[in-house]
Amino acid sequence: MAQIDRRTAPDGQPAVERMVDVCGHCDTVVEPSDRLTCQCGHGSLLRVHAAAIPERTFGTLVVDDRLRIFAASQEARTLLGLEAQDLLDLPLTERFADADQATGTSALTEAMWAAVDGGCSPEIAVRVPEEYGLRYAMTASRAGTRPSTVIVLSPL
Ligand SMILES: [Zn+2]
Repeated sequence: MAQIDRRTAPDGQPAVERMVDVCGHCDTVVEPSDRLTCQCGHGSLLRVHAAAIPERTFGTLVVDDRLRIFAASQEARTLLGLEAQDLLDLPLTERFADADQATGTSALTEAMWAAVDGGCSPEIAVRVPEEYGLRYAMTASRAGTRPSTVIVLSPL
């Protein structure tokens, strides 16, 4: 549930350069501030590129430098049909694969590389291995020197 216009700031600053904070529990998007926790009382605020946040429903996962999931929002768990304990410490590449394997490149790997050093990936399509028809849009975003990457998932 968004509380602000996520794509363009009032001064017209493009989304690719804008940062927002998103709650790791309820996925509420707010302007960046010094606050560390969401008003919902359950989640930490994650700093992400505004361009990583889609206009449609989304959920967030947080992965560490080994690409293992260590946090999943309520909506991410709903989208994936999994409980938190089923996701924690799971390698991202075990849970998701490129939706289009015909390209011969790994969009998932490239997306993760794009987030290194504080970047943001373009939106890519991923699927759940072994499960036909389940596809998601994914972006990877990392804020500056923070030690984790935020994965934004939405239905395709
Ligand atoms: Zn929240």
